Amino acid sequence: MSNRMNMRCRTLVFRNSDENFEDGLAIAADIISKGGTVAFPTETVYGLGADALNADAVHKIFKAKGRPADNPLIVHIANIHQCIELAEEIPADAMKLMEKFWPGPLTLILKAKDVVPDVTTGGLYTVGLRMPDNPVALELIRRSDTPIAAPSANTSGSPSPTTADHVIHDLDGKIDAILDGGPTQIGLESTVVDMTDKIPTILRPGQVSVEDIKECVGDVRIGYRDRTLEEGEVARSPGMKYTHYSPKTKVILIEGNIKDVHKAMTEIVSDCHREGERVGLFVTEETAKIVNADEIYSLGKREVPSQAARSIFMGLRHLDSTNIDLIIVDGTLNKEGIGAAVFNRLRKAADRIINA
Ligand code: AMP
Ligand code: MG
Repeated sequence: MSNRMNMRCRTLVFRNSDENFEDGLAIAADIISKGGTVAFPTETVYGLGADALNADAVHKIFKAKGRPADNPLIVHIANIHQCIELAEEIPADAMKLMEKFWPGPLTLILKAKDVVPDVTTGGLYTVGLRMPDNPVALELIRRSDTPIAAPSANTSGSPSPTTADHVIHDLDGKIDAILDGGPTQIGLESTVVDMTDKIPTILRPGQVSVEDIKECVGDVRIGYRDRTLEEGEVARSPGMKYTHYSPKTKVILIEGNIKDVHKAMTEIVSDCHREGERVGLFVTEETAKIVNADEIYSLGKREVPSQAARSIFMGLRHLDSTNIDLIIVDGTLNKEGIGAAVFNRLRKAADRIINA
């Protein structure tokens, strides 16, 4: 028998541009209720969902992604009742953050009730909760009538998916269905904040910035690093231990003042060309006017990091699909606001960081 005949049926894809998208939503909700897996859009990236309270269903997410079992999943909810069903207690500061930022790109880590299976929490006593700001996601949760555990809908370690086609590329045949709601607006995963101590700790930066959180609840701690943890270092969020966002092609990030970055970039491109290697640049519009190479993908305007947030995973995936030997990323982008989250992902994706 050929390999092709051994393959499972292909994944169902429902596009919101199709007339029968409503039927697709109903089928997808039915799949979740029966313990299957469905990828769906959120305002951050695409998620791969299953019934958060059904351990067998959640196992399928880990299997499809190849995700390490100790890396917990974010549970997506559509109303505050679901939050009360899942969290042992909701501290006053958590309440304030929910009121201000939900629905939105903020995940809160709270003490979990026993109903949440170990597979969902990665064996922790806490659970990450988020109410996404996307009509398709909210409708899927409502119709399934259960909270939906959903990590990013990519192969573990690869750049996160911001379109349904990215999900198809990574997971076709490994999951039951995909709801295509178009490209995601923010393009970067949610901010994760641990609310189990007196002082909230930010475990992953995102669009909701450190300043936004401080303004809402006062004191906060920074609990994340912009690089993968070394062996032996303790991770407060298990996700910090693992390689992330990496294309197959080698990635170099060059940081420093603008002139020095351009000089270093030009030199590396020349060196590569001398060796007969092809180079892709992932650079701001301004840098693209100064440095040239074989492929170029835009990070947008230097002073507008929200544009870079929207294109970071798309750009890494696109450049990885072209025939190049090296991706050079422009570290002259503004690091404020969502820029901090963009650099967190870029530094983790980089095989090497040069301070020019
Ligand atoms: P993903 O959904 O793939 O973007 O990954 C979710 C992120 O949230 C990972 O970095 C997890 O380690 C983190 N996370 C989820 N639940 C918890 C939790 N209960 N405690 C700490 N970190 C968590
Ligand atoms: Mg992920």
